[in-house]
Amino acid sequence: MDAVTRIVIIGGGPGGYEAALVASRLGAEVVLVEREGVGGASVLTDCVPSKTLIATADVMSSFESAEELGIHVGSAYQQHSGGASLGGSCVTGVNLEKVNRRVKNLASAQSVDIAESLSKAGVQIVKGRGRLTADRQVEVDLADGTVAIYHADVILLATGVRPREVPEAMPDGERILTWKQVYNLKELPPELIVVGSGVTGAEFAGAYQALGSTVTLVSSRDRVLPGEDADAAEVLESVFRRRGMRVLSRSRAASAVRDGDRVIVTLEDGRKVEGSHVLMAVGSLPNTEGLGLEEAGVELTKSGHIEVDRVSRTSAPGIYAAGDVTGVLLLASVAAMQGRIAMYHALGEAVWPINLKRVSSNIFTSPEVATVGQTNVNAHHDSPGFNEYKLPLDSNPRAKMLGFKDGFVKLFSRRGSDTIVGGVVVAPRASELIHPITMAVDLHLTVDQVASVFTVYPSLSGSIAEAARRLHADVKDED
Ligand SMILES: Cc1cc2nc3c(=O)[nH]c(=O)nc-3n(C[C@H](O)[C@H](O)[C@H](O)COP(=O)(O)OP(=O)(O)OC[C@H]3O[C@@H](n4cnc5c(N)ncnc54)[C@H](O)[C@@H]3O)c2cc1C
Repeated sequence: MDAVTRIVIIGGGPGGYEAALVASRLGAEVVLVEREGVGGASVLTDCVPSKTLIATADVMSSFESAEELGIHVGSAYQQHSGGASLGGSCVTGVNLEKVNRRVKNLASAQSVDIAESLSKAGVQIVKGRGRLTADRQVEVDLADGTVAIYHADVILLATGVRPREVPEAMPDGERILTWKQVYNLKELPPELIVVGSGVTGAEFAGAYQALGSTVTLVSSRDRVLPGEDADAAEVLESVFRRRGMRVLSRSRAASAVRDGDRVIVTLEDGRKVEGSHVLMAVGSLPNTEGLGLEEAGVELTKSGHIEVDRVSRTSAPGIYAAGDVTGVLLLASVAAMQGRIAMYHALGEAVWPINLKRVSSNIFTSPEVATVGQTNVNAHHDSPGFNEYKLPLDSNPRAKMLGFKDGFVKLFSRRGSDTIVGGVVVAPRASELIHPITMAVDLHLTVDQVASVFTVYPSLSGSIAEAARRLHADVKDED
């Protein structure tokens, strides 16, 4: 009989717990070490809580087109975007304490569900802080002050990242906040300053504005969402401004200080922005300290993340890494895939190296921005290799009926083969609409194949097939 492989995983987020489930089901003996809660930052403080908060914000945003749809909007809503009069009942705003209670309850319930699935699969969960030793063991500082030692044939590091803190704007958890601390707020911040206009900053700025805060977004770059599709960023920024958000572009924050119940953000050019709260969303740092990486021979990238190859191997034999700590793509789906791939590889199963050209991702603003594959951000759109077509959503019959005007479907195809290689969707629920394009990219469908698929009439997905038809026509015109 084959000896059972002993696997120790440090970190219980999607990179760690998905790997644990896979490895255990494949017959390995698995220990999962987690210092806080199973589900990781993804479930407890980042992805799940933010999307739950945004679910409430989405309902509030949906009132925007109420007047156009013939719904009486009460004066409370007109004066303050946090309320609307609907069918005799009046929405006057949100109870943030209740919203946050729901957020936290949902996150902890999901953590419990994951812990149950792990236990059912036979995974041993150990609560404590883990680190590597030179002889491929894992030492764990347990809550009772003792140290436990686990021997491993294979180790997976999935320790995630934490918010980057700036000494001149240290979070106090009350008015100067990280994205992990906002769920302790009992009342809606009347005037919220969000520093950082990347995905996290944009999502929170949009959400709090919809919930009723007056929001100022401080962006060091020319536009919001630097690094994303420029047309998508332009749509989002114009929607933000139309809804009354103050967007300060090319404005780098130098400090944030408290003055009683006010906060003052000083910009590098000396301007000052005042508000009641500030949310710092200025990136993240990998959790690599105290892990014993150097002693174990695990190398880091220039940015300080753990260096891995496409099957999640680090530079040290038998030690794998997955998720945000590798800095590959900071997404829960990618973390989970890297973790699974690591286990398949370690346990001698058939394995496909990770392919980042097929990853779909979404920015949960209103409208949402979803992207897959190669776009004009990661592949030069006017290079001879690609064609693109952008179809605005305001020509879509369903969008007209629903009162949506902002957004588009954009498709990219490879010249010669005419296969779909990428897409961007800016629309309500773009996270769902991107899936057919992801399938097209994954299955190497041609523009004509996508163009000839039936779509429901009327539907937003009709714009995907229509964009493919126009892309086909454009390509023919060029020939
Ligand atoms: C605000 C926000 C919203 C996001 N929304 C989305 C989204 O909508 N969709 C999406 O795909 N991604 C989203 N992400 C990204 C997503 O949260 C991460 O990609 C995901 O959490 C990465 O999973 P992970 O397993 O690498 O790490 P994590 O989820 O961070 O888990 C790492 C775990 O390791 C533990 N740990 C660290 N060091 C040790 C140690 N020494 N010993 C024991 N345990 C340790 C930590 O306690 C933590 O629980 C969001 C991120 C943020 C910040």
